[in-house]
Amino acid sequence: MDSDVNPEPLLQIEELRVEFPTASGTVEAVSGVSFAVAANQTVAVVGESGSGKSVTALAVLRLLDGGRISGGRVLWDGRDLAELDGRGMRRIRGDEIAMIFQDPMTSLDPLYSVGHQVVEAIRLHRRISKRAARERAVELLDQVGIPDARSRIDAYPHQLSGGQRQRVMIAMALACSPRLLIADEPTTALDVTIEAQVLEVLRTVQREYSTALLLVTHDMGVVAETADWVVVFYAGQVVEQGPTAQVLGDPRHPYSAALLAAVPTPTTDKSLPLAAIPGAVPSLHETPTGCRFHPRCPHAWDECASTVPELYELSGGRTSRCLLQRDARGAAAVVAVGRESA
Ligand code: SF4
Repeated sequence: MDSDVNPEPLLQIEELRVEFPTASGTVEAVSGVSFAVAANQTVAVVGESGSGKSVTALAVLRLLDGGRISGGRVLWDGRDLAELDGRGMRRIRGDEIAMIFQDPMTSLDPLYSVGHQVVEAIRLHRRISKRAARERAVELLDQVGIPDARSRIDAYPHQLSGGQRQRVMIAMALACSPRLLIADEPTTALDVTIEAQVLEVLRTVQREYSTALLLVTHDMGVVAETADWVVVFYAGQVVEQGPTAQVLGDPRHPYSAALLAAVPTPTTDKSLPLAAIPGAVPSLHETPTGCRFHPRCPHAWDECASTVPELYELSGGRTSRCLLQRDARGAAAVVAVGRESA
């Protein structure tokens, strides 16, 4: 789906806040995050580890281990998922929104065949016979590219490769034809060739099932290959979002530019190390004052350490949380933060 402006949302996250108790006090992992996912759309949420992207995805399904939503709304078809009771939430999970995790070995039970697990996933939400569910499971495994699905259905997880296990997870997630699929780093544990195949499977099933896809990744290369819209996270906040081609072609936040500079391209000189972002994502206990990115930003000046940037609106529905945009707001003269400057 190509779009300049994000279309009518299916999922709308508004000013979401998530906090976790720790031994040294409560920390906020997500600080007022807003973005939307429309039907059939692929939205990529990108950022380094610790940026709050996975916590945001888990908050949608209320799978926060010990954490809680402390503010904002998660609107799904007019309902606020943050307000639903346990029963209502169980109905949403799997039936309407399904999730695929990074490591299939932690989600698949080693004691049961993959077929048994796909059949169980189908029968959890649909009243059909075991025989019909098994036929459906074969069909799903075939669709996600498991070769000879009718015999491989009886294999155990350890008998499959990492890529095949991830395909099984996609089949399980599709068992009830969800309207939204959330994939949290689905290819991180895979090598490059298998990663490309799994991404292709996701694209294919998205087309065939008209499913929206919320993809959580740290990899701008994956974003470029899959997403219509990209949301860049840093230290629990959205720092930039917009149509993928625009954000990747002309990043307006120095952090987006730095992430892009770390992606090898066909013209990258392989004898030189890739550009790395200096420093590390700040600890949740010590969020920097002013702009949270200022200790690592090559464009920072004095004011960046004291003034909190808003999300400034750019053309085409884009936003960027950088004071450089405040100073050129709404004008064609918005300061471009080029890839080479990161
Ligand atoms: Fe860098 Fe300042 Fe913009 Fe923050 S506000 S991203 S420190 S230039």
